[in-house]
Amino acid sequence: MIREIEELFKRQARAWPQLAKGVEGLARAKTRPVRIDWFDIFIRHIPHRMGSTTAPVDRESVAKRSCFLCAGNLPSEEEGLQFDEDFTIYCNPFPIVDRHLTIAHREHGLQRIANQFGNMLDIAAALAGYFVIYNGPECGASAPDHMHFQAGSRGLFPIEKDSAGLTGVTVPKYGRNVFLLRGRDRSALIHRMDRAIDLLAETTGKRAEPLVNIAVFHERGEWVAYLFPRGKHRPQVFHTGELTVSPASIDLCGIFVVPLERHFEKITGDAIAAIFREITLPDGQFQEVAGKLESER
Ligand SMILES: [Zn+2]
Repeated sequence: MIREIEELFKRQARAWPQLAKGVEGLARAKTRPVRIDWFDIFIRHIPHRMGSTTAPVDRESVAKRSCFLCAGNLPSEEEGLQFDEDFTIYCNPFPIVDRHLTIAHREHGLQRIANQFGNMLDIAAALAGYFVIYNGPECGASAPDHMHFQAGSRGLFPIEKDSAGLTGVTVPKYGRNVFLLRGRDRSALIHRMDRAIDLLAETTGKRAEPLVNIAVFHERGEWVAYLFPRGKHRPQVFHTGELTVSPASIDLCGIFVVPLERHFEKITGDAIAAIFREITLPDGQFQEVAGKLESER
């Protein structure tokens, strides 16, 4: 699969000018590490992310536009690689990381993690050296109306190192609340993720789906999954225009996207820490769910 993806990238970089432009844009992107407490966040200036960062994702705006993940609406140059009978892998023309992929379901249907986490694990297991992410429909997915994942190279993926060797259900003192689920047993892991999501739905009262971002990777037979419970979608500084940032899974994993140069120059570790605190689930609710997950292990 990895080799087929490499070949897809090569073909698409030649045949699809928009992808070539995105890959060049990423190559020029400036990255600046900033230390917060004991960990680093890599702030990345990527101008071509402006559209995604500011995408209107309210129901009305989404209903008005044509879906950019439906096979019938893709640019004629865009080519997919069949992953299985449901999912197709595409090169993402607005990359944040190397080998940035979009993995779209064949049918136009709501972004929802219920009954999909197993697929996410299978994709992660097939993509050695990659991470796979899910952005909830109300916290980062720019196509909340079409089920999809993204994936990318773990060349830069700070959370992997930050959580190495941890065995608890959380990453302590990490500046953002995150559950850590790891294991070799696929069905046991699906069960634990479903349980965590149920508990979050209960605690937050969001029955359809609690606000979550998920990242997962597979290494030496073990899956490592990060579940970021959210308190809200966009931070206050986004709405005031002070900082054009709209964190989703990749930002929460430690690669913080800033599309505007002047914001890239001025943003500080303290500002990022405050944004993480603001948008992830408040401590009280987080600890309550963590306690239950820990006691059920
Ligand atoms: Zn669609």
